[in-house]
Amino acid sequence: MKPLIIANWKMNPTTTKEAKKFFGDFKKELKNIKNAEVVICPPFVYLATSDKRQATRIKLGGQDCFWEAKGAYTGEISPQILKDLGCQYVILGHSERRKYLGETNEMINKKIKTALKNRLRPILCVGETLEERKKGKTNQVIQRQLTKSLQNIQYPVSSIEDLTIAYEPIWAIRTGNPCLPQDAKEVGLFIRKILSKILGKKISESCRIIYGGSVNSKNAADYIKKAEMNGLLVGGASLSAKEFGRIVRSIL
Ligand code: PEP
Repeated sequence: MKPLIIANWKMNPTTTKEAKKFFGDFKKELKNIKNAEVVICPPFVYLATSDKRQATRIKLGGQDCFWEAKGAYTGEISPQILKDLGCQYVILGHSERRKYLGETNEMINKKIKTALKNRLRPILCVGETLEERKKGKTNQVIQRQLTKSLQNIQYPVSSIEDLTIAYEPIWAIRTGNPCLPQDAKEVGLFIRKILSKILGKKISESCRIIYGGSVNSKNAADYIKKAEMNGLLVGGASLSAKEFGRIVRSIL
């Protein structure tokens, strides 16, 4: 299974000119990378500025999508629009959307179903708060998020690319305080166990489970080698093509 390395640019950069430069810099930095699948998730409007010819090497993803494919849903983005703009992946259930926009597991469940129906590959984010971890509730929280978000998936998840779970402990995001690889490994194993109950053993074994939270070029390899993760979701450090390039090379 090729590692999946995702750049989540969040609400950056703030001009089209910079976005074009970002794409150009990433393309240069990652031109010889073959043994990893690299996906950039820029703000929606910049998807259209990315050179489609580069999409074969660097793939594109959305940072969210709505649970309907079209219609009167002001401000939302359709999975069909994302597909049309060249996206293969979509991040769903990011903790920032859960926190600032009140996204619930039920909403995320609907989004996953619509994304799969439209042949977009969901990257489902799960993770606990610091308080939940301190109270020993990590597994309970993750189990609830997975069970509710993946309830009654109607469209078969049939290949490794179809569904990715990103373990993103909320206390590790943007804090410079990453999860210890050993702790990430334990949660990763737990996620696979729960996936097996929900989706069956065969599919659970082929889904990617990746880590996100203060990843940089110094700690990235630990999550692949020690924590046995199948990839990384990178926020802050993905805003520098050079640092992102170092992260990708460090795990190969
Ligand atoms: C994220 O928000 O998904 C993330 C992993 O951010 P950072 O790498 O900045 O902690």
